Amino acid sequence: MKDEKIRLYDKTFKPYIRHERILDAIDGVARELNADFNGCQDIPVILCVLNGSIPFTGELLQRIDFPCQVISIKMSSYQGTTSTGTVLNVMGLTDSVKGRRVIICEDIVDTGNTIVALKEMLLDKEGAAEVKICTLLLKPDVYDKPVKLDYVGMEIPNAFIVGFGLDYNELGRNIRDIYVIDDKMKYYILFGPPGAGKGTQAGAIAQKYNLKHISTGELLRAEIAAGTELGKQAKSLIDAGSLVPDSVVEGMIENAFDTVKNVDGFLLDGFPRNLTQAADLDKILAKRGEEVTAVVGLMIDDEMIYQRIRGRAVIEGRADDANDEIIANRIRTYHSQTEPLIDYYKKAGKYWEVDVDGGTIEENRARVLAKMDTIA
Ligand code: 5GP
Repeated sequence: MKDEKIRLYDKTFKPYIRHERILDAIDGVARELNADFNGCQDIPVILCVLNGSIPFTGELLQRIDFPCQVISIKMSSYQGTTSTGTVLNVMGLTDSVKGRRVIICEDIVDTGNTIVALKEMLLDKEGAAEVKICTLLLKPDVYDKPVKLDYVGMEIPNAFIVGFGLDYNELGRNIRDIYVIDDKMKYYILFGPPGAGKGTQAGAIAQKYNLKHISTGELLRAEIAAGTELGKQAKSLIDAGSLVPDSVVEGMIENAFDTVKNVDGFLLDGFPRNLTQAADLDKILAKRGEEVTAVVGLMIDDEMIYQRIRGRAVIEGRADDANDEIIANRIRTYHSQTEPLIDYYKKAGKYWEVDVDGGTIEENRARVLAKMDTIA
């Protein structure tokens, strides 16, 4: 099994049940079926519930040693990642099951709406003689029906999974192993010296991974522009290339964590800038049962910092970019206060680096996104 996470559309999934373990579960189910149907005089129907049960039914068939006929039906009750509750009989049975013993092969039973409706339909409308339910997976915490599940391969907690036939909006059915959705909030830190291009690259990263980009510099500049008390305090410090007090910046960040909705996480840019802030961030996240996901460092050397910032000063007219002395002060502050964070996050196994010294903005963006893909 690959250890990496995978992305399907907008969601990330992490490895969960490996192929060999799935086959073990199918071996178990097949043994039970073979024991129960051993020496049968009729030809029971193996009913494959399309499309999710195709791999399960395929593997099961190879292990069944009594005569059987395969019939399929297509039902659907899922849209996106939650059960809709309404069971749709999309495609009818591919053959009659009248008077037959039927073994329904289902990939997964969640609420049980699908399987219970199907069993009733087979008995009442289609005239099946007997219906047994066989499911590869069961979510016992969600299943709330009085109907007995005759054969269960494996029980799993209530989480959305894909792979081995199971899909997310039709993707993922062909994956050998089963993956589970990774829905923990993500807290990425975009790290690097001034002028490394954090602000330039942040938008694309935030968009690709559905993150809220939080630039503490921008938040502060907005306060300054609005002329708030906080803005006035911050202005003189920022104009001199110094750092605003930790408590002020952290207050703004916590506020964003509390109020921003409908994102998969946050992309912090310009925070933390020193070890105290990093430790504070760990505390802020720990209170929420969360942690820093990863730190992505954009690296350039000091000479490139001067070049980039002088160029930016012409375009954006930021006071903290205005002259070489202020830039030098920011570089000193970076080396003395911010750079130690690299070791801090390396020790935590959370630091990744991208070299953005050469290359166009687009090339560097591609490098950063490629790196993010390996850790997202
Ligand atoms: P139920 O009717 O039991 O709520 O849901 C059964 C159907 O929902 C399954 O046949 C399957 O198509 C879908 N389903 C339930 N849980 C999951 C899941 O975790 N992942 C995926 N991909 N589909 C699921």
